[in-house]
Amino acid sequence: MRCAVVADIHSNLEAFLAVLKDLEARGGADQIWCLGDIVGYGPDPHECVQILRRHPGAAVAGNHDWAAIGKLDTGNFNPEAAAATQWTAEALRPEDLDYLSALPSSLRREDFTLVHGSPREPLWEYVLSTQAARANFALFESRFCLIGHSHSPLLFELDGQGACRMHQVPGELSLAAGKRLIINCGSVGQPRDGDPRAS
Ligand code: ZN
Repeated sequence: MRCAVVADIHSNLEAFLAVLKDLEARGGADQIWCLGDIVGYGPDPHECVQILRRHPGAAVAGNHDWAAIGKLDTGNFNPEAAAATQWTAEALRPEDLDYLSALPSSLRREDFTLVHGSPREPLWEYVLSTQAARANFALFESRFCLIGHSHSPLLFELDGQGACRMHQVPGELSLAAGKRLIINCGSVGQPRDGDPRAS
């Protein structure tokens, strides 16, 4: 099975469509796995939810998804994020609310654990250091964990001796070796790695 992994679409329909077009040009995928924050910030929450719903695949909840449907408190959101959440809540339609409220906070698919933030704090933790990654490697059983939330593509590797290293995500990555990995694929709709293109 061939899977495409996307994260942090954030209601950015243009970016999401560009990613889907690119995916098609690369031969398509049987499933799309989405790591949360489908909505929040951008202007097209309904369209993004509907496109994702129509694709076979899997999705987990992000903090913005649950905040927009009132399932999560926005008390610790910055003012812009809180305002965007309120706008998004009004723009969503009943079928979107059903879809977003049914999203689980984590999922297991074959040898992959899917979460928005981290296995330790599925909706909130930013995994940006080897210290945070090492703590999280102990908290999931699959070989690989796919994360989003920080909007920064990053790769953490745990070798057989327990050493944890952080890398940039390479253009191509072999999963054949025995190492365990935490992989952040970056953000579709709001990249924060200095490259304005969808990640
Ligand atoms: Zn996000």
